[in-house]
Amino acid sequence: MKLILLGPPGAGKGTQAQRLVAKYGLVQLSTGDMLRAAVKAGTPVGRQAREIMAKGNLVPDAVVVKIVEQRIEQPDARKGFVLDGFPRTVPQAAALDRILSERGIALDGVIELRVDEDALIKRIESRVAEMANRGEKLRDDDNPQVLRSRLQAYREQTAPLISYYRHQGMLRTINGMASIPDVTAAIDAALPQGPAEARPSGAAAHMKGSNTAKSSRLSPAKAIGKKSDMPRGEVKRRPPAAPKTAMGKRKQGQTGQR
Ligand code: AMP
Repeated sequence: MKLILLGPPGAGKGTQAQRLVAKYGLVQLSTGDMLRAAVKAGTPVGRQAREIMAKGNLVPDAVVVKIVEQRIEQPDARKGFVLDGFPRTVPQAAALDRILSERGIALDGVIELRVDEDALIKRIESRVAEMANRGEKLRDDDNPQVLRSRLQAYREQTAPLISYYRHQGMLRTINGMASIPDVTAAIDAALPQGPAEARPSGAAAHMKGSNTAKSSRLSPAKAIGKKSDMPRGEVKRRPPAAPKTAMGKRKQGQTGQR
């Protein structure tokens, strides 16, 4: 299974990615983690990224695309992966399309964790205060001011990916404000049915417009959770030519919590 987790910083992508790793044996490909490791090791990429990350801005596309391309080449990524924090711009998404199609890899779906920005800022403010009280070390970018820059970067550069993947029929929107187990259950319900190896994949399945590809992917965008939980501004609607998918055939009751 090859998935993307999409959502603003603090939405819980890392937590949910780890749960997917534990449950489905996927590899978590977090560009944030890879960049932090590069900063720590003092590599040329790390030196280039350090300041940018501390300000909450995005590292140049070419840098992250190269990192992801090299990481996807590793043998452990072959069994399946969850991309956490990548892509973050439309050019990164286009590069990912190229990287995957050159290798005959089909993406199974994109899970958007939708959250309320004000609640996120309040959440991080109280976490920072608690950590400071306990005398714990904070990440350079772990403060409300940097979070605001990161949210702005998300709104301006990453949010366009929502329609990018919606048009590909890959997007599934989950209410990220629910509890961690509820979000996990909603993601579970949104995943294609059946073990990954039983589902079609490969170059043919990846081709745009291929029915095979669409049948192996997630259902089109559909909000899980109450409408009132969702931030304003984004109108959810089902694309007119919604492909019939595994989700469409799912029986009632199968989508509940496990
Ligand atoms: P994260 O841990 O995913 O929130 O990422 C931490 C920081 O790393 C971000 O605020 C960016 O500065 C940088 N970063 C991570 N992933 C990317 C990406 N795909 N594109 C550009 N910058 C990224």
